[in-house]
Amino acid sequence: MSTRILRNKLADGREILFFQDADSPAAPLAEDHRPAEPRPTGGQLRFDLLTGEWVAVATHRQSRTHLPIAAECPLCPSAPGRPTEIPVAGYEVVVFENRFPSLGPALGAVAADPSQNFAEAASESALTAPAHGRCEVVVFSSEHNGSFAGLGPARARTVIDAWANRTSELAAREGIEQVFVFENRGEEIGVTMNHPHGQIYAYPFVTPHTVITSARAAQHQRETGRPLMGDVLAFERCSGERMVLESAHFSAFVPYAARWPIEVHIVPHRQVLGIDDLDEAERDDLAHIYPEVLRRIDGLYSTPTPYIAAWHQAPVNCEDRSAEWMHLEITSPRRAENKLKFLAGSEAAMGAFVGDVSAEETAERLRAATPAHEDGRR
Ligand SMILES: [Zn+2]
Repeated sequence: MSTRILRNKLADGREILFFQDADSPAAPLAEDHRPAEPRPTGGQLRFDLLTGEWVAVATHRQSRTHLPIAAECPLCPSAPGRPTEIPVAGYEVVVFENRFPSLGPALGAVAADPSQNFAEAASESALTAPAHGRCEVVVFSSEHNGSFAGLGPARARTVIDAWANRTSELAAREGIEQVFVFENRGEEIGVTMNHPHGQIYAYPFVTPHTVITSARAAQHQRETGRPLMGDVLAFERCSGERMVLESAHFSAFVPYAARWPIEVHIVPHRQVLGIDDLDEAERDDLAHIYPEVLRRIDGLYSTPTPYIAAWHQAPVNCEDRSAEWMHLEITSPRRAENKLKFLAGSEAAMGAFVGDVSAEETAERLRAATPAHEDGRR
C-alpha cells in the first residue's frame, strides 16, 4: 500500500491517524495543545426483547456540534488561535475517534442475546450492557466545501486505503463484531457537519440488517454451494436493464427490488469479505467508478442530492465466510427536485417498503445523466 500513515493522540487521549496521498511529501505531526477535557463516559445498550435487537442510548450526543459555519468547523485544519479537532495546518485524509461517540470509548464483549438472563431475573440490568465499541470520523479533505465525488481518483484512493486500514484494525479489537464504514451526505438526512467526511461504527454486535442478510447468504450457500451475491451479480450483468456502470472490477446497478427513489449497489466482481481484501487494482478501479456513480446521481437534479453510502462488510465472526460478499449500497430519499420520500407507516412500522419508481426507470435515468461537476452541481 502506497498510502503513508502517521499516528498521534489528541489532548484528551483520542487516537488520530493521518493518511497521506501517494505523491505527498511527509508532513510533520503537530501536538494538540487544547486543554484536555474529560471524555464523555460511554452510553448504554438496551436490549429490545420483542425484536432481539440492541439499541444504543447515547444521551451525551445532544450537545454535539450542529452545522457549524466554516470559521467554526471542527474538521477544518487548525489555525493560529483557532484549534480544531485536527491539530495541523494542512492534511489529506484524517481519521480520529469521535468526540461524541454512540459506541465506546471502552471496548469489550457484549452478549448477542441476553434473553436467558431476563428469563432468570426480570430486571433492567439483565437487558443492559455498556455501549462498547468505537466510532470514528473520516475526513476526506482539508477543504471545507466539496464532496467525496469531487476528490479526484488519487485522493479517493487514499480514502479507500484509510477505510481498509480501519476495517482490519477495528475488526481485531476486543469485542468488535462488525465494522460499518459509511457516509451521510446532505442536511436533509440529518448531517450535522457539511465538511466532507464519513464515519465508521465498530459494533460489539452484528447489526439487525446484517443478521438477516448473513443468514440468507449462508442458507443460499448451503443449498446451492454458491455465494448469493455472485448469483445476484450474474443475474444483473446478464439482464443489463438495471446496470448503471461496469468497470474492470466492479458493477454498479439499481437492485431489482430497489426500496429508495435512488438506489445503486456497487459490487466487486471478485468475492471479498471487506474493503481490506480489495487488491491494488481493485482499489484503483473503485477510486474511479464510485465517484462517477455519485456524480451521475448528482447529475439528476440541479442541486446536490442527499445520500447514504453504506459499506456492507462481512461480520467479524460470521457463520459462513464462503457465503459473504462485501458491497456498497448508495441510497437517497430524493424523489423529485424538491421532494423527499419519508418513511411512513408501512416502512417505519412494518419495514415493508412501497416504492414510487421502478428500478429500470432509475437505472435508465442514471445511465443518461450527465455527471455533475465536482461541487455536485450540473
Ligand atoms: Zn470545515
